[in-house]
Amino acid sequence: ETAGRLQSFTGPCLLSDGTRIPLRANVGDGAQARAAAAAGAEGVGLLRTEFCFLDRDTEPTVEEQAEAYGQVFAAFDDHKVVVRTLDAGADKPLPFLTDAAEPNPALGVRGFRTSRRAQGVLERQLEAIALAASKHPVTVHVMAPMIATAEEARQFTELVHAAGLPTAGVMVEVPSAALQAAAILDEVEFASIGTNDLTQYVMASDRMLGGLAELSDSWQPAVLQLIGMTAAQGAVAEKSVGVCGEAAADPALAVVLVGLGVTSLSMAPRALPAVAEVLSGVSLERAQQIARSALAARSPSEAKAAVRAELPILDELG
Ligand code: PEP
Ligand code: MG
Repeated sequence: ETAGRLQSFTGPCLLSDGTRIPLRANVGDGAQARAAAAAGAEGVGLLRTEFCFLDRDTEPTVEEQAEAYGQVFAAFDDHKVVVRTLDAGADKPLPFLTDAAEPNPALGVRGFRTSRRAQGVLERQLEAIALAASKHPVTVHVMAPMIATAEEARQFTELVHAAGLPTAGVMVEVPSAALQAAAILDEVEFASIGTNDLTQYVMASDRMLGGLAELSDSWQPAVLQLIGMTAAQGAVAEKSVGVCGEAAADPALAVVLVGLGVTSLSMAPRALPAVAEVLSGVSLERAQQIARSALAARSPSEAKAAVRAELPILDELG
């Protein structure tokens, strides 16, 4: 019976006490967006716009970009789509934007930082997003990657508003942003925690190196602690703090994230059914207890064992 239930997800996702936790999808283009909609995603929590730029030697025009974003918006009429502005650099190099000679690309000019070097690219992307948004009945939110300071968050919000888009947010994926979450949330409407990069930067452990998997694990207590701090500031500011890194796709970790105060999750569409199934079996209070036991662990394996012991349904799901 579990296997049958797990083949599909039809939202909304509710905890056992009725608390609503929107489950959205991470997508990269129109085809993935259509697949995500078919899988029941309650919108897009992370549109990786790099797809429109990859394999190109020059910047796509505003019209080309608007056409590509429009294909994603068309799949999610009447839903929310969170568009992440260009995250070029490090693991996503772009010939016309990134400097291949940087000694430490992960610590270099990547994400929002490229807008300092390449004047106008971000402005034109926002123009394209606004143009595509004007043609579809979707709620478009825009967020910037690799924000490290409240000042950068303020600059981004100004650019978003100047483009006629109402809702600006940031990714929290640099430790300084998690530590400064209160100041940053003052400048934006929402935050979305990118656990892939947050883990890389908190643990100083390259996300591309399989040999460091034990360190590059979002179950690391230090990572969970920063997620909890960020979500707590979101609660104080009454602003939503989601997670859009791979951590959201792990059903056990999803319970911990919700218990830490995360208000929405965005993941690869195939993960939606299992995450929804496990979340629907816990109340917010129970998730908070489970999060406390994960936070008290000394290692990822200890945290996973503690959470598994509290969620027998995970054994059923395999
Ligand atoms: C992240 O860093 O967690 C994230 C969602 O973004 P990306 O994997 O595209 O860097
Ligand atoms: Mg990232």
